[in-house]
Amino acid sequence: MANVTTHTFDAIIVGGGGAGLMAALYASREIDVAVISKLYPTRSHTGAAQGGVGAALGNMEEDNWEWHAYDTVKGSDYLADQDAVDVLCKEAIPTIIELEHMGLPFDRFPDGTISQRRFGGHTNKNTGKPVMRACHAADRTGHMILQTLYQQCVKNNVNFFDEFHVVDLIRVDDTVRGVVAIEIATGDFHVFHSKAVLFASGGWGRCWEVTSNAHSLTGDGAAICLRRGIPMEDMEFFQFHPTGIFKLGILITEGVRGEGGVLINGKGERFMEVYAPNIKDLASRDVVSRAIYLEVQAGRGINGKNYVHLDVTPETVNYYYEKDGEDRRISREYIEAKLPDIADFTRTYLGVDPVTEPMPVQPTAHYAMGGIPTDANGRVFMNAANDVIPGLYAAGETACVSVHGANRLGTNSLTDLVVFGRLAGVDMAKYCKTAELAPLPDNPAAQIMVEFARLRDNKGKVKAYEVRNKMQTTMTKNVSVFRTEETMREAIANLKILRQEYLDVEVQDKSKQFNTDLLEAWELGCLLELAEVTAVSAITRPESRGAHARDDYPERNDEDWLKHTFCFKVGEGAYELDYKPVVIDRYQPKPRVY
Ligand SMILES: Cc1cc2nc3c(=O)[nH]c(=O)nc-3n(C[C@H](O)[C@H](O)[C@H](O)COP(=O)(O)OP(=O)(O)OC[C@H]3O[C@@H](n4cnc5c(N)ncnc54)[C@H](O)[C@@H]3O)c2cc1C
Repeated sequence: MANVTTHTFDAIIVGGGGAGLMAALYASREIDVAVISKLYPTRSHTGAAQGGVGAALGNMEEDNWEWHAYDTVKGSDYLADQDAVDVLCKEAIPTIIELEHMGLPFDRFPDGTISQRRFGGHTNKNTGKPVMRACHAADRTGHMILQTLYQQCVKNNVNFFDEFHVVDLIRVDDTVRGVVAIEIATGDFHVFHSKAVLFASGGWGRCWEVTSNAHSLTGDGAAICLRRGIPMEDMEFFQFHPTGIFKLGILITEGVRGEGGVLINGKGERFMEVYAPNIKDLASRDVVSRAIYLEVQAGRGINGKNYVHLDVTPETVNYYYEKDGEDRRISREYIEAKLPDIADFTRTYLGVDPVTEPMPVQPTAHYAMGGIPTDANGRVFMNAANDVIPGLYAAGETACVSVHGANRLGTNSLTDLVVFGRLAGVDMAKYCKTAELAPLPDNPAAQIMVEFARLRDNKGKVKAYEVRNKMQTTMTKNVSVFRTEETMREAIANLKILRQEYLDVEVQDKSKQFNTDLLEAWELGCLLELAEVTAVSAITRPESRGAHARDDYPERNDEDWLKHTFCFKVGEGAYELDYKPVVIDRYQPKPRVY
């Protein structure tokens, strides 16, 4: 094979975000690991996470992991697997303490314990009132997690292949043998031969037009697995965060509401009091996103437009915090200290000073609850019967454990990364210590090289960005905060046309070095496939649950639909669905009370 270098490691980790680095750190204590990342690791989207990481430390008020588990299950609209949720919430506590000991600079309470704040859906089970559970480092929590983990990985001699773009998984029958990647700087193909592969490649918010997600979040790992016969679980559940900056989608953390911020409609009313009388602005994200959408539809957006205001100005907000044993009212000083990045974003992008003016916000595509199906040790299932494919792992946003079910609570993704990243890293090391390195098939890169040659040399009439724009428009219009049979039919029909157009895409840059034009065209193929899987999974679920809200089926249907969707790719544009029951133990489904 021309220009193909082969590398060998015990295990390959695709992705240098929080999940990938946590897995790498733990696995590297036992085995030889390489992290391959298309971005320099500290540029991963984890670094953009603002508000906090959930763990029931109970530093300021009573809390315990069982309340955290209950909130997570309730927030998931009962679709989360409760055994996995227990692992998430129990393990969160020692994992956060461990991160603290690694040097993560959390904010602190005056007594030296980690500072915690309120976040949507996190409550005291006895009183139903919000509880302080989000551990944070100002509004740069993800950034601090990423930097801390990266330093620890460097210290532990993890091998890094930065700016290498993974484009294929080497699967032989029911075993994995490694991955194929392109070195972005040279355009050369590399084969990474290993006993185990872990995908920690993040989400795919770029399927939608208005999104909080970075440009790189194109679902590559999930799409690669799908093409190699791995099903995608619960893809119909994609979270829209209620407070993205109007038009831009850039996220305004829920931490703003955690610190007392309120949502206001065009009539100057606090409308969340109507939709969630108990928990109001801190209701879970699906509820708040739908409320904003309905206010706008009823003509109560600001100036009749499709946005509302998020107001944290001390003038409006009646919020007190404790300092030196005294209750103090929220102030400029407090906002600048607790939400410095948010203040900076809104000043830079909107010319709005959040201390004196409200911020214009609208729902923004934010988080994939679904993805590559795994158990709590990150082992990937190849079917709905829970058969594991040995050596294949996934963790972080690309995985579906499933702890978020139909809707994720704020702060639970960072918890998911560190808890399940760690468990997957440990399990993978255990696996590699006994597994043999199976031989590579002949020319493992040949198939994907043919696809790249086709993309590069294609003399088509369409530009990748045109197809991408159309995909984002149809997903935003038809598979969004609300959906119906009719809108999803339209999305599926449009995506089918776009799949054909994609074959006609012309890549203008024909060079080898840093050919981001070519790589972005390939990423678009991933997005198109995941968009189709999302629409196909969604149209077959005739109920409303969590983030999947159907106008034509507004009720949750536990009798028939308390189950996980598995979507398999069986040909170009051909998908088959299967289902498996949800693991329910302590918490029987109850109607939602807002
Ligand atoms: C703006 C924003 C704010 C958020 N705030 C919070 C919060 O406060 N609390 C919370 O719990 N959650 C938050 N989230 C969600 C959370 O940050 C993400 O779900 C999480 O960080 C995802 O981490 P990850 O490790 O799975 O992937 P990422 O951090 O997205 O990393 C993906 C990695 O995969 C690599 N990669 C991808 N494709 C390839 C490929 N083909 N080849 C090689 N490498 C590849 C990338 O280079 C990158 O290193 C927020 C998300 C956003 C977008």
